[in-house]
Amino acid sequence: MEILPQPKLSRKERAKEMKCKVCDLEVSEEGFCELHLKAYGNILMKFEVWKKAFDVTWSQYLVRIQKNSLTGEWAKDVAKYLIEEELKDV
Ligand SMILES: [Zn+2]
Repeated sequence: MEILPQPKLSRKERAKEMKCKVCDLEVSEEGFCELHLKAYGNILMKFEVWKKAFDVTWSQYLVRIQKNSLTGEWAKDVAKYLIEEELKDV
């Protein structure tokens, strides 16, 4: 019972490739390049607002911002990536 699979570890391994999860630029932090990291930060920040205002879940929110024409290209890329991650984790 001591040796358990640790999927989170392998994720960190992938980050060592030093490429953004969304594009091929060099990684800044958390697996994103500078621009996508900024977009990711904005997505997280806006979610706090949306959650309170519209009572949406994380995935619903991601789908909405991805479809929103007002969402910037960078944020859309990140949202698309996060949606795919959500589907993988289930
Ligand atoms: Zn990037």
